[in-house]
Amino acid sequence: MSKKPPPPKLLLDWNNEPLKIGLQVDGNPCVAEYGTGPPDRRCGDCSHLVGIAMAKTYYKCDQRQNTHSAKTDHKRKWPACARFEERRGDMRLYDGR
Ligand code: SF4
Repeated sequence: MSKKPPPPKLLLDWNNEPLKIGLQVDGNPCVAEYGTGPPDRRCGDCSHLVGIAMAKTYYKCDQRQNTHSAKTDHKRKWPACARFEERRGDMRLYDGR
């Protein structure tokens, strides 16, 4: 008898509705949602990426439906999506402590 793996747990938004952005995509989920961005550009150069400073710095994209979960953490090295906007100056950094 083979044991079936449990179905993946859905992430819910603040209203207990399932998140609309697919989080199971390998790599930048915004590329699946909005399309590819300028070639050779990374999320680390985008004005939509913000840092949350805690014991280490976590990154979130303000174009995603974010939770406090690591599942919505964003990587600076991910290829940019179509909503890429060149950041001028320092990245927005919030104190998460
Ligand atoms: S390019 Fe900008 S808007 Fe697109 S996923 Fe990266 S940080 Fe978010």
